[in-house]
Amino acid sequence: PRPVAALPRVVGADLKVPLVTGQFVEYANLDHAASAPCLEQVRDAVDELLPWYASVHRGAGFASHVSTRVYGQARDAVRRFLGARAGDAVVFTRNTTDALNLLARALPRRTSVVLFDTDHHAALLPWRGPGVRRLRTPSSAAGAVLELDRALRACPEGPRLVVVTGASNVTGEVWPVAELAAVARRHGARVVLDAAQLAPHRPVDLKALDVDYAVLSGHKLYAPFGAGALVGRADWLRAAEPYLVGGGATALVTDHGDRLGVAWSAVPERHEAGSPNVVGAHALGVACDVLGRHWERTGAHERGLLARLRAGLATVPGVRELSLFGAEHDRVGVVSFVVGGQDAGYLAAALSAEHGIGVRDGAFCAHVAVHRLAAGQRALRASLGLGSTEEHVDRLVAALRSLVLEGPRVDYAQRDGRWEP
Ligand code: PMP
Repeated sequence: PRPVAALPRVVGADLKVPLVTGQFVEYANLDHAASAPCLEQVRDAVDELLPWYASVHRGAGFASHVSTRVYGQARDAVRRFLGARAGDAVVFTRNTTDALNLLARALPRRTSVVLFDTDHHAALLPWRGPGVRRLRTPSSAAGAVLELDRALRACPEGPRLVVVTGASNVTGEVWPVAELAAVARRHGARVVLDAAQLAPHRPVDLKALDVDYAVLSGHKLYAPFGAGALVGRADWLRAAEPYLVGGGATALVTDHGDRLGVAWSAVPERHEAGSPNVVGAHALGVACDVLGRHWERTGAHERGLLARLRAGLATVPGVRELSLFGAEHDRVGVVSFVVGGQDAGYLAAALSAEHGIGVRDGAFCAHVAVHRLAAGQRALRASLGLGSTEEHVDRLVAALRSLVLEGPRVDYAQRDGRWEP
């Protein structure tokens, strides 16, 4: 048999957290969809860079050369990871939100924007105004493709952009990206892929999917906070004024008495004003490289855990899984659910305080989606990744069963909107 590469390891796998009883237990982090723990290889790479980092581009010292080179290598790593075309720009941003806002401000005048209403707020909100068509997400992936076709038919002439989510941050369901992109292409529309939730779980290839832009966040991709990327067609970015202005974004500033003359830098620097986050970009680039080498292994790990989680949740009385396109639809390791009439905030608090389990509760920055799917209730979300184990999954299922069947071991009350023991 072919040797199976080891699963990349994350830091914090042996973290102990306190329970309400005073005991300590190993932390079961089932909240990878919010932020994933750092890969050991990323930590080591950051550690190695820390003594060396210095200002990029402008510095003449040796450390500045090192930083500049590392920053460029990080761009190449992100480019490879997303299968970008030769002419595509790679702009480092703070995160996905920043990347989508940047693109929204770089659109040509009178661009029509088409999107689906169950998207994450980061994908839903940057586009406003009369040119925005917000489609109600249909109950099947094929329906979404038809709906997009219909919407684009009705779009006025001129530039068009379709916003497509790779995987829902609520249900983990994978959207039919290539099919939506094919429809967009037929209508001369561009596509931006919100890959924040898809890229940590599956290979994303701009060329193969035929999408124009992709955005992602390092902190969901096993790198620390602070770095994300916008990758894709350079022409609109070249033509747009930067939305963040300052050093780096400017090639030349001249004094004309009553006004300043500004010549903006070329892409990508044009859209990276201020001293860049070299350490963050390096961390993101290394994470991309590591994930890109391990898809087979990480995919198998996650599929096994996801099946175990869903089968386990199905044994908990009152649990109803949320889904946009039906229970059988393809999904990454993200599962949201409601539990009978129980408050999700209280359950999340009890899972943490009594069992050392970290999940997410609420509406996950996708209020329209959760409100619709959970019929106005708040939901719980368990999300898997490289830090997840069978023990974590089993502990969650057992804890939920015991909370539902036997109730909590201590009392909980709401303080400032949060449940606490
Ligand atoms: N899109 C999706 C699908 C997400 O899950 C998230 C994060 N929850 C975002 C965008 C925004 O990412 P960030 O908070 O890193 O900007």
